Amino acid sequence: MRIETDFLVVGSGMAGLWFAYRISNHGRVLVLTKKDDSESNTNYAQGGIAAALGSDDSPQQHLEDTVKAGYGLCDPQAVQVMVGEGPRLVRELQKLEIEFSTEGGHLELGIEGGHTRHRVAHVADTTGQAVEWGLINAVRSAPNVALYEHHFVIDLLTDESGRCCGVLSFDRESGKFAEIHAKVVMLATGGLCRVYEHTTNPPIATGDGVAMAWRAGAKVADLEFIQFHPTSLFGARIDGRAFLISEAVRGEGGILRTPDGERFMPRYHPDAELAPRSVVARAIYNELRTRRLDYVLLDLSSIPPAHILKRFPMIADTCKRFGLDITREPVPVVPAAHYSVGGVKTDLWGRTSIPCLYTAGECAHTGVHGANRLASNSLLEALVFADRAAQAASKEEARLPSLDKINPFERQLRSIEDPSLLNSLVSSLKQTMWRFAGIVRSAKEMERGRARLAELSRELKALYPARIFSPGIKQLRNTLIVGDLILRSALARKESRGLHYVEEFPDTLPEASHTVLSPKD
Ligand SMILES: Cc1cc2nc3c(=O)[nH]c(=O)nc-3n(C[C@H](O)[C@H](O)[C@H](O)COP(=O)(O)OP(=O)(O)OC[C@H]3O[C@@H](n4cnc5c(N)ncnc54)[C@H](O)[C@@H]3O)c2cc1C
Repeated sequence: MRIETDFLVVGSGMAGLWFAYRISNHGRVLVLTKKDDSESNTNYAQGGIAAALGSDDSPQQHLEDTVKAGYGLCDPQAVQVMVGEGPRLVRELQKLEIEFSTEGGHLELGIEGGHTRHRVAHVADTTGQAVEWGLINAVRSAPNVALYEHHFVIDLLTDESGRCCGVLSFDRESGKFAEIHAKVVMLATGGLCRVYEHTTNPPIATGDGVAMAWRAGAKVADLEFIQFHPTSLFGARIDGRAFLISEAVRGEGGILRTPDGERFMPRYHPDAELAPRSVVARAIYNELRTRRLDYVLLDLSSIPPAHILKRFPMIADTCKRFGLDITREPVPVVPAAHYSVGGVKTDLWGRTSIPCLYTAGECAHTGVHGANRLASNSLLEALVFADRAAQAASKEEARLPSLDKINPFERQLRSIEDPSLLNSLVSSLKQTMWRFAGIVRSAKEMERGRARLAELSRELKALYPARIFSPGIKQLRNTLIVGDLILRSALARKESRGLHYVEEFPDTLPEASHTVLSPKD
């Protein structure tokens, strides 16, 4: 099957939907998404979206906080763009009938670790869901936009000049492959933390965009920086996902304690519970390891129960389902892989190193987060850079490709059902990444991790040659590529900085530099 469109968007989270919404006046838009339309990291965001909206705040202050949290690696121009354009775009989001929480007629702005002002706009503790549905409604009612669910994008199509001119995808409902040709492709496939055994991310977050872009020849940057969220609910899984206890809970007064009651964060950082996430996650990791604990406790006793229920209704409700009343009991928590700072390298307009291929959101690397993302800056980054990408893409003068010029790779695929044999390979991959590319790393162990991934790739290839396709097999191939890119990037960084801590190189070098990998090197 062949389909033609002007703008092809892969992914229906914040970045993909905002891009589709904005570009819809400039031509036909097709959004492809591999599960239901709302299934995305965006849908699970709790804390909110950061922007300098308060009367005591300014983009300059937001910039300073972001740069401080980024350990010398933020791209100042990119941060300037994000904090400068953010407030206007958040106000535009409000117009989409997304009902942000208010207080006395004004936005109720939360505070989270590393922010020196109240600047996190939120919809109670289900911001992501509200934003996701607001955007889906906007896109579904926009002229020119079609959204196809359950379309798994397999690979990018490039022409003989190397320009991206579409994708090869698989319609899970009809069981048919489709070649979709477009003038511009926007890759908005989100995160990759499902490569880890413990993660807050839903099953869609398998790094497909990074793997596809890599196969097509794009550069990737800073993939060693994985943010481990300090507080996910111990012993609870939903769809394989660790349930997140938002940082906003610490923002409202939650205190971290060991099970015997000691408040330990002041020993690690002057900002205690509101220290940067990398510091809090490593502190918890250290307490767990040295005291042989299974979890630490998040004590909410200083927050009035009525406020807990008003500000965190979903968290309270979900914990209750796991038998925990958070208005009366402390919450047992452990860290989990949460966010990928690195991704496909872009400029300030979402352009990648491949002509006509744009990217935004969690699968992109804009440089705004440096070596550590500040809480609630990722929805903002997705919004701002998807918006800029739409402005730039609307000016592309590309024409639809002629069919014979398209690289015909993978046209001979044969599809099968996801084999159950895959589960053990997927588990091995996740355990390998958790063990060898986790919160505290060692160069020697990371080499072992790479060798183990190479072994798993060989096993997969022996079981299923390249022309055999199922979404599960392809996702595993993608996660193996992404896992290896994380380890390669981590090995290339001979220092510890922000989210990346390696035992052999505990110090931070005076000069900060990005880790850029290219498939052509
Ligand atoms: C539990 C949780 C809480 C969070 N809380 C916050 C918060 O409070 N504030 C904040 O700023 N950030 C938060 N984040 C991070 C933030 O939600 C994400 O970084 C952001 O939503 C990413 O948006 P995105 O559009 O890039 O990707 P996503 O929202 O993940 O969307 C990716 C889309 O791509 C689709 N896709 C992927 N691969 C394919 C493929 N091969 N073919 C077709 N479609 C594909 C997916 O199905 C999905 O629709 C949180 C993340 C999690 C997991």
